Amino acid sequence: MQCYHHQQQQAHALCKHCHKGLCASCTLDSGWGLACSEPCRDELLAQQAAWRKNSQMLAASKTATQLLTAHLVQRRRHTGMLLGSMVMLLLFCLAIGLDRGNKDYVLTIGALLVVCIVSSLLRLRANSRALAQLAGQGDNETG
Ligand SMILES: [Zn+2]
Ligand SMILES: [Zn+2]
Repeated sequence: MQCYHHQQQQAHALCKHCHKGLCASCTLDSGWGLACSEPCRDELLAQQAAWRKNSQMLAASKTATQLLTAHLVQRRRHTGMLLGSMVMLLLFCLAIGLDRGNKDYVLTIGALLVVCIVSSLLRLRANSRALAQLAGQGDNETG
């Protein structure tokens, strides 16, 4: 291949932007690959700036996803613990109420705790759905 500007010279490089052959005296180093001319060098620099910005944004969105995932996992653990203690409390109150033969007490406390338990279960379900969605996003980014 010959230099685009000097037909008698052997090209030893290609312009990264327009892919013309270049001899040693024709190359301009953009810091992001070699260019044949100043317009091509400017194009390459603009490409580099866009690429940098893009990869920074991607990194930022990845960090946000990781933070959100960690937050959701922590909240799931808390909700799970809360759920466990509410079930224990429910059984405890039922045992006391039945022991005393106090039906109103059992019904009131039981209903209250069942409402709390159901709402925790719903929260857990929403939580795992959000986590699954975040995991899906991660797959899309890498794949
Ligand atoms: Zn060029
Ligand atoms: Zn040349």
